[in-house]
Formats: sequence, C-alpha cells, structure tokens
Amino acid sequence: MFKFSRARPIAKNNDGLPMITTMRALIIEKNQAYRDLLDHTLAAHGFTTDSGDSIESACLYADDAPYDIICVNQELKDGSGEEFVSYCNRHQRHQDTPILFLTENRDLKAEDLPVRVDGVIHELNEHQIEDQIVHFIDQHLDPVFYEGRILFVEDDAEVSADILGKLQKTGYQVSHFTSVEAAREEFDAVTVYGSHAEAYDLAITGLDLDGELKGEDLVSFIRSYEDGRGFIPIIAVTRDNNANRRIALYKMGVNDFLPKPVLHQELLVRIRNLITNKRLLDKVHDIRRELHALATIDKLTGCHNRHSLMEFAEKFIATSRRHEYSISLLVIDLDHFKAINDNHGHAVGDVVLELTGGLLNASFREGDLVARYGGEEFVVLMTHCNAEDARGKAEELRQAIENLKPNGLDITTSIGVTSLEGGAKGDFEAMFRAADEGVYAAKEGGRNRVVYIAVD
Ligand code: GH3
Ligand code: MG
Ligand code: MG
Ligand code: MG
Repeated sequence: MFKFSRARPIAKNNDGLPMITTMRALIIEKNQAYRDLLDHTLAAHGFTTDSGDSIESACLYADDAPYDIICVNQELKDGSGEEFVSYCNRHQRHQDTPILFLTENRDLKAEDLPVRVDGVIHELNEHQIEDQIVHFIDQHLDPVFYEGRILFVEDDAEVSADILGKLQKTGYQVSHFTSVEAAREEFDAVTVYGSHAEAYDLAITGLDLDGELKGEDLVSFIRSYEDGRGFIPIIAVTRDNNANRRIALYKMGVNDFLPKPVLHQELLVRIRNLITNKRLLDKVHDIRRELHALATIDKLTGCHNRHSLMEFAEKFIATSRRHEYSISLLVIDLDHFKAINDNHGHAVGDVVLELTGGLLNASFREGDLVARYGGEEFVVLMTHCNAEDARGKAEELRQAIENLKPNGLDITTSIGVTSLEGGAKGDFEAMFRAADEGVYAAKEGGRNRVVYIAVD
C-alpha cells in the first residue's frame, strides 16, 4: 500500500463511512468567457465553484469559506489580482491553498510576483488553458488517502501504467491483470466479500483484452456470484464510443464508464463515489446479518436459541427423511447446576454455560444444529448420523465436558440420545421426548452418563 506524506485521510462520518465532500474552487476572473471556461473545467473535475470578477466579491467569498484551489486573474474590475493574492497570503485559512494566477502577459513568471502563487497560466487558447488547469490540479492538490481494493484488468501497457500511476498515490490497493482469465482466477481465489478488509471493493476493466475473453465476460462472471462478491461496482474503460456496446454493458451490470484517455480527477471521483455506495451497502448487509444473529443466536453461549431450533428442527428432520439419511438428537443437561450457582454465584454459572456452549459449537459439524434449549439444557441435531455414531459422539462429548473444568470447576452432564434411521417416521417432538427420557434415565442412573432411548 502506498502512503504519501501529503496524503490526508478521507473524512468519515459517525458510522465510519467515507463522506463525499466535494472540493471547492474559487474563480476570480473579469472576462466572462474565461470565467465560464474555468468554471466548466473545474466542475468537470469534481469541484464545486464560486466565481466573481472583482477583489470585492473575491474577499466576500474568501472570508466565508476555505477553498481547495483559488484561480485569480491579474486584472480585475476594481484593481489588481495581486492585491487579492496578497490578501490570501496574509490570511491563515488560505495560506496553504494552491493559487493559480492567470495573465495575458506572456512573460510573467511566478517568481516575478511580489506575492506567493503556485502556478501561472498565460491565457492563450481554450484548449491549452484546460490542459494547464488539469496539470495544476494534479500537481498541487493533496491526494486524499482512500481505502479500498481494486481489481484492474487492462492489457494496454500505456493505459495500465497511466491508471496504476494515478491510483498508487491515493492509497487504493490495486491488483492488475491483462486478461479476463487471470483476473478470474484471482477473483475466484478471494472468497471474502462485503466489509471484509481483503475483499474487492471495485473492478475496473478494459473491454478488448489479451486472451479469448473480453471485458463483457468478466462482467458476467462477476455478476454470476450470489455470495456478495457479485455485487461489487464495475467500471469499464473504453476508447470505443459505441452506444450500443455501452447500453449492452449497462444491462450486464456495469455501473460506470471511463473514457480513454483517463483524466486523473475524473477517475478518482468515479471510483470514490462507487466505493462509497458499496460501503453503504456493505453496512446495510452487516446490520442485517447482526439483526439476524440477534434473532437466532443465544448471546451467552453463541449457540442457536430455542426459537431458531424450533424453526429449523422440523426442516432438518423432514429433509433427512426425504433423502433417507439417518438423523440423531442429543439432549444435554448439566448435572447439579443449581449447586454451581448457589456455591459460586450466578456470574460463575454464566461463565460455565458460556464455556460449555463454546465447546459444543466447536465439537460438531457445520451442518449440525447446536442450540441452547433452556437454562442449562442444550440440544444437538446431527444429520447423516445413525444411532451408533450418535452414541459414540455423545460419549466423546460427555468426556470432553468432564475434562473442560470451566473456572476450575468439576462439571458433568447427563446426555439423552435418540435417532431416526434413514427414512424412518418421526418428528422433532417424538425425538425430543425420547432423548429427554434418556436424560431422565441418566440422572436416575447416577448422572455423568449417556442413555440411548429409541423413538416410539
Ligand atoms: P440436575 O443434575 O438434576 O440437572 O440438577 P440441576 O441443578 O442442574 O437441575 P435444575 O434443572 O433443577 O436446575 C437448573 C439450574 O440452572 C437452575 C437455574 O438456576 C440454573 N440456570 C438456568 N438458566 C441459567 C442461566 O442463564 N445462568 C445461570 N447462571 N444459571 C442458570
Ligand atoms: Mg485492449
Ligand atoms: Mg435442567
Ligand atoms: Mg441440570
């Protein structure tokens, strides 16, 4: 990642999201045509502008707000532009603002002036003015330090070097590929998405690339992902001004276009806007995930809560029956848990539950359902698991809990087990009744044991 000492971090709001703060330019120019040209050029590069034709109006603006760039002509309606520049030089707020001085005097140089200016433009023809302003912006405006990962696919060496050069100073992390094939391999390998730091935030692609595949193929490929990687914004870089191709690309899910040659500020503004929107969407998805977790996960133990168990258990059982898989159920009840609370306090009791929940979550396959059924009772539904495997698993678990010694305490459990063999009839209620009966029998038998009871 590139960090420049001049780079400043992008402003963030209370939610930690980047704020779209537009840059501001002040244009003080007597000649209406030039004023419009400056205004137009700066606006095209992402600036909001204020403009005037006199020292008086310039001072009114300058007293009111800071600017990121100030353009002043040497001759103004009510005096010399130097007077206004001197005013800016003296005011703290404007002391570091880049000042561009415009003049009709071909021989004037910045160092000849008695005031501090950062560049001089000799007003000649329109085209030159525009180029010189862009050059000035690139030279004098601090690059903002952005965060984000960009997948960049372009085979043209010159365009690639140009875009990479422009992006490097900004802090974006860019991975560059010359073919869709290579980019695809990389995109496939990075399996994280959303607000994850390693996730791609944006793709920029050329259209006619090395290899068999075109930019269009990359767009379809990215959009085919359903896991969140498929939602990243995509910019197409094109010299081709074919409207039909552009429309087709928009339909495929391209968000924006960058015409070649790529203008620095335009590139940055487009990327920044798209990444900002992506971050907002990531935030919405994060919040939705959190809400879902709150509704389905028990806070203390990290296991599914009873509500979630009731919602999924019947589906688990029905699916297993349809595919004729075996399914097993454990009901796990901590022994003499009341005594832990009574002797060590409720807070210690909570720690024991938390650590037991952690052990349970770590002990079963991802497809199994581990839930806290009530106070110190847990339930585990295991798919693809017959009676023999379930008894073995329950015995292992009983041993692991005995070995756990949370807070140094001796904890044991009574575990009831039941199973439905592939395709056998039975619902959650019937399975729970059998396993719970197993718990009762285990308690009767002296606790710290596993008892299997078949479903009637
Ligand atoms: P047994 O061996 O027969 O299961 O005895 P037990 O004491 O575990 O049985 P019982 O079901 O009578 O008591 C369970 C205790 O679990 C009662 C209650 O105080 C405690 N408990 C339930 N929920 C929580 C909780 O969230 N935190 C804590 N610390 N204790 C809880
Ligand atoms: Mg090409
Ligand atoms: Mg109990
Ligand atoms: Mg108990």
